[in-house]
Amino acid sequence: MLRFARLTLILTAVLVGRIGLTQVVIDAGHGGNDAGATGFWQEDMVFEKDLTFAASVALAEALELRGIYAYQARQGDQTLPLSERVARATRHCPGGLFISLHVDTFTDSQTTSGGMRFFSLNDRGIKQTLPEDVNPKRLTRYREHAERVSAQMMNYLHDAQWRYFAKIERRNFQVLHNTACPAILVELGMMNNKHDMAWLNDPDRLAQRMDGLAQAVQYYLQSEKEL
Ligand SMILES: [Zn+2]
Repeated sequence: MLRFARLTLILTAVLVGRIGLTQVVIDAGHGGNDAGATGFWQEDMVFEKDLTFAASVALAEALELRGIYAYQARQGDQTLPLSERVARATRHCPGGLFISLHVDTFTDSQTTSGGMRFFSLNDRGIKQTLPEDVNPKRLTRYREHAERVSAQMMNYLHDAQWRYFAKIERRNFQVLHNTACPAILVELGMMNNKHDMAWLNDPDRLAQRMDGLAQAVQYYLQSEKEL
């Protein structure tokens, strides 16, 4: 019965996605020749590109179970230039959201935990290299929406009583430029921190946390998008 309900949800999500009602583009950071940051978990070397891909799959599944169609910009261990990620975001996210997933590291400390951090585009990024069809006002509005979703994501993390030092910051990241929808870059945790590595490498805990993000997206799409 549960399996049937799940299948129905997924089929609904796919149909909704096909007719273009709601889409979230998930960008698993790095990939292919670009491994991103490195760390260790239980004696094994771990690459950021693998953690972000596992998170991307888990987030897509959590969204689809909530009836939200998710498109994964990177669909395997492939090298994907930043410009192509933005191009895919532009094609697939109108009316939805773009979420880029990363995992950070500090090389100077084994104990620092940065918690989950949410980044939106800064003023310099908004002014930079605008294509003719995206005006700064629209990008500023996208940023407001991106920050509202990020705040919701933080709420859901805190509701679950996970100990994070979550915060929202602004940066000039290329993947946040010129997307056709609100864009967020999430640093999920720190590869040099053993608590972060424990949940990032545990499929059940990863799925729980990605469902927290999916809940926030659902709340935004249902109640805040029209504001
Ligand atoms: Zn990264």
